[in-house]
Amino acid sequence: MDTPRLVLASGNAGKLVELRAMLDGLGFAIVPQRELGVDDAPETGTTFVENALIKARHAAQVTGLPALADDSGLIVDALGGAPGLYSARYAGSPTDDAANNAKLLQALGDLPEAQRTARFYAVIVLLRHADDPQPLIAEGVWEGRILDAPRGHHGFGYNPVFLDPAHGLTAAEMAPEQKNRISHRAQALLALRERLAQALPAH
Ligand code: IMP
Repeated sequence: MDTPRLVLASGNAGKLVELRAMLDGLGFAIVPQRELGVDDAPETGTTFVENALIKARHAAQVTGLPALADDSGLIVDALGGAPGLYSARYAGSPTDDAANNAKLLQALGDLPEAQRTARFYAVIVLLRHADDPQPLIAEGVWEGRILDAPRGHHGFGYNPVFLDPAHGLTAAEMAPEQKNRISHRAQALLALRERLAQALPAH
């Protein structure tokens, strides 16, 4: 029997690498949507979960395959939750990680450590087909703090300014394998993995 395929509706190269690494060994062939000619869907939702569902539904519609999508971002308490839904384009489009980090550090100025609390949030959804009324939805949260200067070079996005106080390292100072064990996306995927087999009996 052919390995069942899942289309991965992600347009972010960094996340794609992480997601594929973490979904490895599940018994599905994970095919990035671009390989199937699927364009990015406009993220018009007002919550992370809405955006993930929009992306997954679009990929399922175009390919006829079950679709997996994630949406994620950084939530900073002192900024009322910003950059939040707009994390990727905080400093404008196209996405520029260095500009986003610079804007964030500037927005927080010299705010003391105790007021620099933040978290990465990720939601991952699986739609068995485009009209699936009961998607699988899994969430993950990674608590941390925004530093006053970047540290480390691994990964993407806000990694260099996000400190995990439990480990004393920024997300960019962690080896990818370490980050992939504890991150918001890792937690969401773990929750999803546990339910995937039931959701897709062909597995
Ligand atoms: P999305 O592609 O709409 O989910 O955008 C998520 C954005 O949030 C990314 O472009 C990053 O700016 C930020 N982000 C999400 N997860 C991470 C992470 O693990 N490390 C660093 N930045 C992240």
